[in-house]
Amino acid sequence: MIELKLKRVLKNRDEAGTVIDNDLMIIAGPCSVENYDVMDSTVAFLKSLGISYIRGGAFKPRTSPYSFQGLGDKGLEILREVKLKYDVKIVSEIMDVRDIEGICEVADIVQIGSRNMYNYPLLKEVGRLNKKVLLKRGLSATIEEWLSAAEYISLEGNDDIILCERGIRTFETYTRNTLDLNCVPVIKQKTKLKVIVDPSHGTGRRELIKPMSLAAIAAGADGLMIEIHPEPEKALSDGNQSVDFEGFKSIYREVLRLHRYLNME
Ligand code: PEP
Ligand code: MN
Repeated sequence: MIELKLKRVLKNRDEAGTVIDNDLMIIAGPCSVENYDVMDSTVAFLKSLGISYIRGGAFKPRTSPYSFQGLGDKGLEILREVKLKYDVKIVSEIMDVRDIEGICEVADIVQIGSRNMYNYPLLKEVGRLNKKVLLKRGLSATIEEWLSAAEYISLEGNDDIILCERGIRTFETYTRNTLDLNCVPVIKQKTKLKVIVDPSHGTGRRELIKPMSLAAIAAGADGLMIEIHPEPEKALSDGNQSVDFEGFKSIYREVLRLHRYLNME
């Protein structure tokens, strides 16, 4: 049995065991901010379902330097416009400390992506912010390494941290990553942190998003992050793992039903 040697993010000995909150945090939106129209129609749709956390990357960490890299500041401007128009909360990734000011002006939650989970200067910097941080699990990070990254943020004073399981790299290649739902009860039992699950990056396959969303909720996740696009086949990034509006509606309906069932007295 491995003991976690951390001071801030773990539960104290006398704190209660697994706690499943009643409110579910659903974050949805396109992988990247592509243009105003995609963002506008997606947010209008999500808002009509009552979803108020919107994702969209302005700065994108792409494996290939030849792939679409995000709109940068122009993307932030689009996020600002939809935020004002629809009164939603924005979740967007930060990759570079130099972008902190610009991102913080529009984002309600700053996302640290998988590739930057080990970027300790960046973790320390967001640790000094008065802002929620969504910390995604590194591509090949153990649970302890991931929690240590959260500890870096917390040590700087920011305890407003949500973890996001987004799949880890294994020998399996059918799926883009292997969604490690084991981590959900571990985090709920051992730490004070919230944990949400991203079945889009966790599977890389649209048809697996619904079953793995339901599995995540059944495992006790505090929420989900799902990629959605009005025309996934035309998306500039991650179209294969993005659902369309109808697909999302069906996932959301079943997720709410399961969550309600699990929380019945
Ligand atoms: C994302 O959520 O936009 C993203 C790039 O995910 P990850 O960092 O998990 O690969
Ligand atoms: Mn993506």
